Amino acid sequence: MPNQLRTCVACRKISDKKDMIRIALDKSGEAVVDPKGTHEGRGAYVCRNAECITRCTGRRCLDRSFRKKISDECYAEAEVKLTELIKQDESHNRR
Ligand SMILES: [Zn+2]
Repeated sequence: MPNQLRTCVACRKISDKKDMIRIALDKSGEAVVDPKGTHEGRGAYVCRNAECITRCTGRRCLDRSFRKKISDECYAEAEVKLTELIKQDESHNRR
């Protein structure tokens, strides 16, 4: 059984990676939201909930995970994308 557990960058809780959203560090050194988990490079994971997303971007948790400074624009973009993703989850759950 491969290890599929990942630590959330915001709350540090360990969860199954299918319950989390991956954020990858792309070649240009910026963080990109990677919902399918296919992007190359170092990855960070955040829980699929608004609280962790807000904490992740508000406290710049990705800087620590990627050991580099992620730009404000990148955080802003990541927050928008992550928020869209969890909204999709919510609409799935209602069905
Ligand atoms: Zn979390």
